[in-house]
Amino acid sequence: MADESPLVIFSPLTGQPVIVSEARARRPGGGGAAWRGECPFCPGNEAMTPPEIWAVGREGGPENGPGWRLRLFPNLYPALVEVEPPEGYHVPKAAMPARGRHEVLVMTPDHHRTLARMEPGEVKEVLRALRRRYSQLCALQGVRQVVVMINQGREAGASLEHPHAQLFALPLVPPLCRERWERFSSSGSCPLCDELEEAEAGGRLVVERGGWVAFCPVAPRFSYEAWLAGRVHRPSIADGGEEELDGQAETLSLLLRALERCLSDPPYNLVLHCAPCGREGGFHFYWELLPRLGRLAGFELGTGMFINAVPATAAARALREAMP
Ligand SMILES: [Zn+2]
Ligand SMILES: [Zn+2]
Repeated sequence: MADESPLVIFSPLTGQPVIVSEARARRPGGGGAAWRGECPFCPGNEAMTPPEIWAVGREGGPENGPGWRLRLFPNLYPALVEVEPPEGYHVPKAAMPARGRHEVLVMTPDHHRTLARMEPGEVKEVLRALRRRYSQLCALQGVRQVVVMINQGREAGASLEHPHAQLFALPLVPPLCRERWERFSSSGSCPLCDELEEAEAGGRLVVERGGWVAFCPVAPRFSYEAWLAGRVHRPSIADGGEEELDGQAETLSLLLRALERCLSDPPYNLVLHCAPCGREGGFHFYWELLPRLGRLAGFELGTGMFINAVPATAAARALREAMP
């Protein structure tokens, strides 16, 4: 339908891009209401989602049926679409069609098995699937940045409870991703390796396993914010081996369990940061874990600056003490 072609529109005052997609309004909970009814992500309800792109773990059985461990499909209410707007569709001057992909990875058949409740082996399988799709999406023509995230809890923006990740393949490099990437490519040393070193010296490390470190960043935007980075410097999740996934999964698993114990199951966003597709520029990929204990308010939204009451050292100590 012509009136539903999503657009990326740039603010004339700040240059900040906004995706306007009317399809998003139809999603469950999109208007703020809680989702009621059958879960479209539970096994047996595969027909409630778009046809799958691929699944992991289904032995034999037909596509789009139960028996999977992980299942990937296009988002039913996409922020980005594969097709150009129809001919004659009005695209404002400061806008571009929101061409790309917006996909969902259901991380487990078990409705209640959040990432924190999974065994490290299961977390590893999730990471391996995200890595595989990340690489596939980055290789598509016109894709400039792939953003991967997990929203846990309604207050963190999840409209469905069933544990799932989302992947966005974007036709542009979003402003924060660009700023971050430029900082990496213009610094003489790696700002993340430097920050890791400082975190260690400053008592901000939370846990380390298999070459992966969880720590509280020096300038946390959110209370108990933690980052997860590898000791080995790589531009994206795409090119590590199996061993790298082991350390990543075990450290992430421990961090999430500590967070769950420390704050009794808080909502959070977990966001993967990689270099723009095909542009390494000295980037060092990492995950941000952003607990959502309060709402963003006028100051944050109006200025892009954050106020946080919990210093990183105190957050790291509390998370270390809550470590299973
Ligand atoms: Zn479910
Ligand atoms: Zn580095």
